[in-house]
Amino acid sequence: MEPVCIMEQYGISLPFLDKNCLDYKEGKRFHATIIKIGVKLGIYFANKLIIVYSKHSGIADARQLFDEMSDRNVISWTALIAAYAHQNNGQVALRHFEQMQREGVKPNHFTFSSVLSACREAQVGKQLHARAITHGFHSDVVVSNAVINAYVKCGEMRDAHKVLSHSHTNNVVSWTSIVAGYGKCGNIEVARRVFDQMPYRNVVSWNAMIAAYAQQDDGTEALSLFHQMRQSCPPMTFTFSTFATLLSVSARLPSLQQGKLLHAHILKCSLFQHKDVVLESSLVDMYAKCGSIEDARLIFEAMPEKNVVSWTAMIDGYGKHGQAKEALRLFEQMRYQQTSNWGIEPNDVTFLSVLSACSHAGLVDEGFHLFHCMNRYHNISPRPEHYASMVDLLARAGCLVEARALINKMPEEVKARAEVWGALLGACRYTANVQLANHVAQRLFLLKPQHTGTYIALSNVYAAAGMDTDAAKVIKVMKDRGIKMEPGCSWIEVGKDVHRFLVGDKFHPQTEQIHATWIKLEKQMKEAGYVSETNLTFNEMGEEHREPISCLHSEKLAITFGLISTPPGSSIRIFKNLRVCLDCHIATKIISKIVDREIIVRDVNRFHHFKNGLCSCGDFW
Ligand code: ZN
Ligand code: ZN
Repeated sequence: MEPVCIMEQYGISLPFLDKNCLDYKEGKRFHATIIKIGVKLGIYFANKLIIVYSKHSGIADARQLFDEMSDRNVISWTALIAAYAHQNNGQVALRHFEQMQREGVKPNHFTFSSVLSACREAQVGKQLHARAITHGFHSDVVVSNAVINAYVKCGEMRDAHKVLSHSHTNNVVSWTSIVAGYGKCGNIEVARRVFDQMPYRNVVSWNAMIAAYAQQDDGTEALSLFHQMRQSCPPMTFTFSTFATLLSVSARLPSLQQGKLLHAHILKCSLFQHKDVVLESSLVDMYAKCGSIEDARLIFEAMPEKNVVSWTAMIDGYGKHGQAKEALRLFEQMRYQQTSNWGIEPNDVTFLSVLSACSHAGLVDEGFHLFHCMNRYHNISPRPEHYASMVDLLARAGCLVEARALINKMPEEVKARAEVWGALLGACRYTANVQLANHVAQRLFLLKPQHTGTYIALSNVYAAAGMDTDAAKVIKVMKDRGIKMEPGCSWIEVGKDVHRFLVGDKFHPQTEQIHATWIKLEKQMKEAGYVSETNLTFNEMGEEHREPISCLHSEKLAITFGLISTPPGSSIRIFKNLRVCLDCHIATKIISKIVDREIIVRDVNRFHHFKNGLCSCGDFW
């Protein structure tokens, strides 16, 4: 009987075998039937089956079938090599590539591109490149692109670029790989130059260039490129990735308007008529990080489908805005969702967000409970960041002994991490524990000698203990050691413009009006009981508060400017690159009461919502 007929008796027909989308189970079933009825599988179908297995990570099955084949051709070898390459097993892929040639089978361009895709060593890449040329593939675009990609992955940008320049058959993929490669290694100027030289660009090329700017945290350039992309001819169709990258950069920009503008573009895009969970989660994150927790909540609640990233973004937002109880409520809801039969498993980032929410609100018991649950019930081993968050939580709440005990119990590799000690040092300020601060700072000086944060934190502990001379001495030592501080900078958005202020800034066009307003405001503040904090706080430039105007911290300038340039009663939003200092914190509380406005400040760690003389952080930040 003909083998085909036998197979048909078993319910397997030829069109079934020939279809390209066999899944792993179908493949296995077919294979088992073939063995059972004793039909020899021809090379054509055997190759197909190897491809099916390797596509679905069934490398052992692919291997077994390959070994059983009496007859193999270049497709069989390439399928097996591709399977190993797909698993990132470059060495085995390479070994098979060599063996194939020893057995007299000549590689084709797919064989080269497969073996190159697993290449992680520049030297191997060079050898394969040379071999491809000897085999006559020097003008084959598939091989050239694979060579470029291999060089890019090995960080050999010069070689990658050379291949592009010398090849006559490059296409948009080759160019885009070079742009993305330069972007990934931080060489943004060359990435841009190559991008500008591209004869033709597709959406992937634009996305690669935008991602390169995003990686450099250059949100302004990323957004300006997006506006160019909108005007390109023929018009580009945006992808989810375009907007996800842009939203992540705008979340870090000192502007809520930019994020809102992007949201408007997303809504206009026909591609987004159906909901996308990744994009919506990015929107939640952007709104929360740019200061509008309300917008974040509205989007989150309207999401038809939520994944762990969406939940984490919302929990993190509540935590950063000082709404720890909301963060915890949401966390519980996530785990025991009533509406569906299964909750969503939190990941390590979710725990980090909820722990930091507890820490910002001084919820010690809740934090401890979560820290234990994480390991015991969710099988997530704590990373140094989780430990640092726990140390921060304990130390802020004044439990320094417990914090030290926790550090003593930590694995050695965690103890060697600066963030754990940094958290302890930062919190010594609340109890003015000079002795412990000194001890911790010595360790930090060894771990991270150039880190300004250690000097500032130590100086702040001295200041909190009333030891002003020592506080000043620490900053002097830092300056003498040539360690430079990032100058304090605040931004405020008024209308379509973002105004930027440095400490004691005199360059703003309305500087005189700002200073005049400040003098009046300070008088009212003093009448309301404001005493300029005499303790030295060295958050900006390491300068003392001596001259009230020329050393005015940037957020005071930005707030004052906000008062004169926005309508009475409206909220004022400030973005700041460092932590708010004690004096500015006290001052902003009083200002919020005097002018009866909500003042929202995003500092480097979190949000402060100042209203009616109080701050949402409860003075822990
Ligand atoms: Zn300040
Ligand atoms: Zn605050």
